[in-house]
Amino acid sequence: MITAYHRPKTLEEALELLTQPDTAPLGGGTLLSQPTTAPVSVVDLQLLMLDQLAPKGNDLEIGAVCALQTLYQSERRPEALKAAIQFEAPLNLRNSATVAGTIVAGDGRSPFVTMLLSMDAKITLQKSKTDSQTIGISEYILTYPKGLITAITLPSNVKTAFEAISKTPTDTPIVCAAMTQWNSGRTRLALGGYGKTPTLALDGTEAEGAEDAARNAYHEAGDEWASAEYRLEMAAILAKRCLDALK
Ligand SMILES: Cc1cc2nc3c(=O)[nH]c(=O)nc-3n(C[C@H](O)[C@H](O)[C@H](O)COP(=O)(O)OP(=O)(O)OC[C@H]3O[C@@H](n4cnc5c(N)ncnc54)[C@H](O)[C@@H]3O)c2cc1C
Repeated sequence: MITAYHRPKTLEEALELLTQPDTAPLGGGTLLSQPTTAPVSVVDLQLLMLDQLAPKGNDLEIGAVCALQTLYQSERRPEALKAAIQFEAPLNLRNSATVAGTIVAGDGRSPFVTMLLSMDAKITLQKSKTDSQTIGISEYILTYPKGLITAITLPSNVKTAFEAISKTPTDTPIVCAAMTQWNSGRTRLALGGYGKTPTLALDGTEAEGAEDAARNAYHEAGDEWASAEYRLEMAAILAKRCLDALK
């Protein structure tokens, strides 16, 4: 239950407000505005100009408050990221939900976070007025450190692929695979569809062994949606499809 609403005009003001107890950043509010019994004060980020999306060197920097739909429509994002966002949420939700809110709220079934994990996205975190740090998404989803996400940075000169299996074309996938390959040959494979966070199955100097890595990563991935036997076989098939797509 939202008990107080703040709309700061500056980042400094927002960070000051976020030092108060039971106070959380408000992105699109699609999750935070759901009914709960726990009282929370929210700090709306919409005036902080954190919704920009721009190239930065060889990277693409996405402001934390950029809506999923803005990223979806941008010609700067890779095609595979578009596919992952489409699976993440329907249009109305994509118009409100922000990239940072989706990372924070996302679990292992999130196609968007799975894609970001494969791309080795960097998360810029503002912990206080003087403490800003950038960490890899692998570390972020392991610890969910406190702090305000201000930006997400993605590599631009990479090849990407995303493949998913779901009950309907827009349902949250039961299994999904995201693969990113750098010019050097470095290949990262992330799996989603299961658990508390997506799983990094492979981060190698080449794509060799990706199918086996997918099988191994999901050998215990059983839940109410699918058995581990099913998921590990599908993960290997999706990894192969990703490899084919990157050729
Ligand atoms: C009816 C409905 C039910 C849903 N139920 C769930 C659910 O149970 N579980 C789930 O995972 N998703 C759920 N979702 C999906 C949710 O909408 C998405 O996860 C969405 O992408 C969240 O993005 P947002 O910008 O709206 O986040 P918000 O609702 O604004 O915030 C979500 C979380 O992220 C934090 N946050 C936001 N911005 C930042 C930032 N810049 N830095 C640090 N932290 C930040 C917030 O404090 C909050 O903890 C639901 C959506 C709908 C419409």
